[in-house]
Order: sequence, then structure tokens, then C-alpha cells
Amino acid sequence: EAKGRGKSMWVRYTDEMGARISAEAELIREMREALDAGQFELVYQPIVRLTDLKTTGVEALLRWNHPVRGLVSPVEFIPVAEKTGLIVAIGRWVLWQACRQGVAWLRANPEVMGMSVGVNVAGRQLKEHGFVAEVARALGETGMPASCLTIEVTETAVLDDQESLDALLALRALGVKLALDDFGTAASSLGLLLTTPVTTLKLDRSFVESITTVGRQSAVATAVSQMAGALELSSVAEGIETPEQRDLLLALGYEFGQGYLFSRPVPAARIDEIIGTPAWVPGSTITG
Ligand code: C2E
Ligand code: MG
Ligand code: MG
Ligand code: MG
Repeated sequence: EAKGRGKSMWVRYTDEMGARISAEAELIREMREALDAGQFELVYQPIVRLTDLKTTGVEALLRWNHPVRGLVSPVEFIPVAEKTGLIVAIGRWVLWQACRQGVAWLRANPEVMGMSVGVNVAGRQLKEHGFVAEVARALGETGMPASCLTIEVTETAVLDDQESLDALLALRALGVKLALDDFGTAASSLGLLLTTPVTTLKLDRSFVESITTVGRQSAVATAVSQMAGALELSSVAEGIETPEQRDLLLALGYEFGQGYLFSRPVPAARIDEIIGTPAWVPGSTITG
């Protein structure tokens, strides 16, 4: 009896495993085609200054318009793309696309000269030989000012890794800004902040979620804000959804915020409409 049940469980388990593996193989095959087929798109989420809620920059976020499955979340395909190395080709497309778009915004609205365009970069890309040269080429050929590009990396991507650290130092030497994304979620040492040439800390959304009700969350948010201040780094709070969260984060010293309260990620054309309006801070920038 027990044996029989054990066996059927085992069979079910392998069926599931098999299904998962072939689904992933299918995903990989489709991702390869997606680039050529033009199925990837960037949407942009405004980053606002918390004092007056004016937009100072945007973060580019990848979307995959799958012909059958519809919109596929980056949370689903980025990890697989990273595992297979496909992230390198996809990331290159993201970088060039964001730079081209950034330049188009700057040319059309010279008064927003200091705006920042954030681009997420996976650990795998950072370690890839020639990544920094690729960034330099993208900046040079598109005409995007280095100071307007913010590369977002996670703590895990730069943890204990000389190659990544060298890449970050070289990016800083180009004048590119560097944000530590999802800050506070990885088991990294705070000493990382002394050796890694970051310019911005982005407090992870998980600390913002219940910040107004959970004292321990606001304690972490406070510590991160104070550390950013002491190290002269910009601070951005992610995932702000309510006015109460915004007010508290402002009181805790956060300079900038991002979240559905201000705007969801939107197509580039929607950003066109707000650049140059009073909702946008002329010439401002995330410092660093
Ligand atoms: P991330 O870089 O931390 O980006 C922020 C994510 O939080 C985005 O999810 C954004 O849509 C979401 N978000 C923003 N405000 C709110 C809010 O108020 N509430 C909630 N619930 N969510 C909010 P998205 O676009 O699904 O991207 C997820 C992650 O995928 C990103 O996290 C980033 O790690 C990765 N990713 C996205 N685009 C790229 C890319 O071009 N390259 C790489 N390597 N990774 C990317
Ligand atoms: Mg990010
Ligand atoms: Mg983030
Ligand atoms: Mg995040």
C-alpha cells in the first residue's frame, strides 16, 4: 500500500519534472527567436523626487510580447536567460534601445539634460568580457551622455567578485552612474558599499510594502537612508503604492521614489508626454 502510493507519487513527480524541463527548453527556443522577431519592448517607469513628486528620470523595464502567451514577465524569463547566457544578447539590445530612447528624449527636450535612464544589468552580463566596451560604444554611437545612464545591479551580482568590481570601476570611469538594486535583500556585507563604486541605493520593495505598520521594516528603511546619507549616495525607495508610504519614506530621508502611486511602467510615448511639462524637473539628476 505504502509502496504503491510511493510509486505513484514518484511517477507524478517525474511527469511534473519532465513537463517543467520541456517548458523551459521551449522558453529558451522562443527567447532566441524573440530578439529577431522584435518581440521585446522596453517600458519606462518614472522615478520621482519625493519632496515635490516631480519626475527626474526613468527606469527601463523589459517586456516580452509573446505571440501566443501574451505579455511575459521578466521575472519568468530573465532568470532562464541568465542561466543559458542568452541574457548577454538580450541585455545588449536593452542597453542600445535605452540609449537610443534616452538620446531622443534629450534631443527633443534639452532642458531635461540631467535626466537619468536606468538600465538593469544581470551579473552574467557584468562578468562578460567586453561589457564595458559595449557600454562605451553604445554611449558613443548613440550620443547618450554617460552621466544620464544609470546601470542597476543587484548586490548578489557584485558580491565577492573581482571581475564585476573591475567592470563597475571602469563604468564609473566612463561617467556612468551605478545603482545597487533591491538593496537589503541579499546576504551581503555592508563593506560592499566601501569597495563598490555605487552612486545610488535602491531600497527593495519588500521593505516598503508594510513600512507604515511594521516597525521592523521602517527600522531597516531608516538605517539604509542614514547610510546612504553618510556615504553621500542617492537613495531611491522602490514599490511605493500609497501616500502614507511616500510620506514616511520622505520623512526617513529618501530623496527619490518609484512605484505605482506615481506611475506604472509605461510605453516610451507616454514618457514623451510628461517630459518638459511642469511634472518634470528640468536639468535634474540622480546625483553621484
Ligand atoms: P527591478 O529592477 O527591481 O524593477 C522593479 C520592479 O518592480 C518592476 O517589475 C516594476 O514594474 C515593479 N514595480 C514598480 N513599482 C511597483 C509597485 O509600486 N508595486 C509593485 N508591486 N511592483 C512595482 P518588472 O518590470 O516585472 O521587473 C522585474 C525585475 O526583472 C526587475 O526588478 C529586474 O530585476 C528584472 N528586469 C526587468 N527588466 C530587465 C532588463 O532589461 N534586464 C535585466 N537583466 N533584468 C530586468
Ligand atoms: Mg531595477
Ligand atoms: Mg529594484
Ligand atoms: Mg526589485
